[in-house]
Amino acid sequence: DTGLTPACEKIYTTNLLLDLFHEDDYEEPAKIPSEPLEDILKGLLDEACRRELIPDSIAYRDLFDTRMMNCLLPRPSQVQREFEERYQRSPQEATDYFYRFSQDSDYIRRYRVSKDQKWKTATEYGEIDITINLSKPEKDPKAIAAARNAKTGAYPKCQLCMENEGYAGRIDHPARENHRIIPITIYNSRWGFQYSPYVYYNEHCIVFNGEHTPMKIDRAAFTKLFDFVRQFPHYFLGSNADLPIVGGSILSHDHFQGGNYTFAMAKAPIEQHVTLPGYEDVEAGIVKWPLSVLRIRHKDEKRLIDLATHVLAVWRDYTDEDAFIYAYTDGEPHNTITPIARKTGDSFELDLTLRNNITTEEHPLGVYHPHANLHHIKKENIGLIEVMG
Ligand SMILES: [Zn+2]
Repeated sequence: DTGLTPACEKIYTTNLLLDLFHEDDYEEPAKIPSEPLEDILKGLLDEACRRELIPDSIAYRDLFDTRMMNCLLPRPSQVQREFEERYQRSPQEATDYFYRFSQDSDYIRRYRVSKDQKWKTATEYGEIDITINLSKPEKDPKAIAAARNAKTGAYPKCQLCMENEGYAGRIDHPARENHRIIPITIYNSRWGFQYSPYVYYNEHCIVFNGEHTPMKIDRAAFTKLFDFVRQFPHYFLGSNADLPIVGGSILSHDHFQGGNYTFAMAKAPIEQHVTLPGYEDVEAGIVKWPLSVLRIRHKDEKRLIDLATHVLAVWRDYTDEDAFIYAYTDGEPHNTITPIARKTGDSFELDLTLRNNITTEEHPLGVYHPHANLHHIKKENIGLIEVMG
């Protein structure tokens, strides 16, 4: 019993579920066995299939059990109020509540996430996390066939849009009736705070623009990262880069990822301190890490935003032929930055990871990317999470 539905809503909730099953009669059983959520949902989904409410396939079952779970949940405004009340006491209390809620609601499917394989491996750069993600459901042939015939809807525009909250989903878009978004203010505009349903690490959160607007690494992006870290100092927040290959899987919607987890990169030390002209007050150094990372640290995050903006401008135009770094080829830009912001003690810290997405005939997926002999392990973009180790 997670306490998700209060006792006073028992009859109301029962009636919503009866309606979902096209059932207008009910007699409460003498004894209700205590079972794990996965088993309860399985029993009810089997019943829905027997009643021919849904075809018996994973995609339709996922749409239907999400609808079921929403019958048990508070409305978005209640969740927002609960979050806000706790936030007044402490940001951590608020995120603890919301992270647990996001699992109890089955938005994060605990029983799937627990199938992921995770371990740490010792390297000269520290203990790197290795994961094999199994919790994203495999698409089944029935769903693929149905998706081919379905019209591609422009609503919601993508999986990160605000319009997903409460959305029933389609065969080609996950159901989000059980999803709740916490509204937050970033860069003086309306943003959303939520967890990733796939939880790649502890309290893996997503902070996303209220508007469907593309990712862009610029001064505003650095400012937005610190707007969040100031409000949630126990969470780090990073951004994917804004170019293909070195960016994340969604470049079309401005968003960041963070959470309550210390990656190997955050533990990696500065191996060479540097002083940057005009920024002598900022502690800066090259991090001992497989990627090229400049770490900058200051009590005043505005100094970090200024310096990061300067480093970005210089790096965007930087070419070093001997090192096979080209800022542009045929007018196409290759240099960008993957930034990660965090609070350590009473200082702010920003890691600036220098990225280059150049390709050659020999390495058509990227020179600074796993080469073909490693694609059976990793072929997708090397985004923020991979950068952090
Ligand atoms: Zn979007």
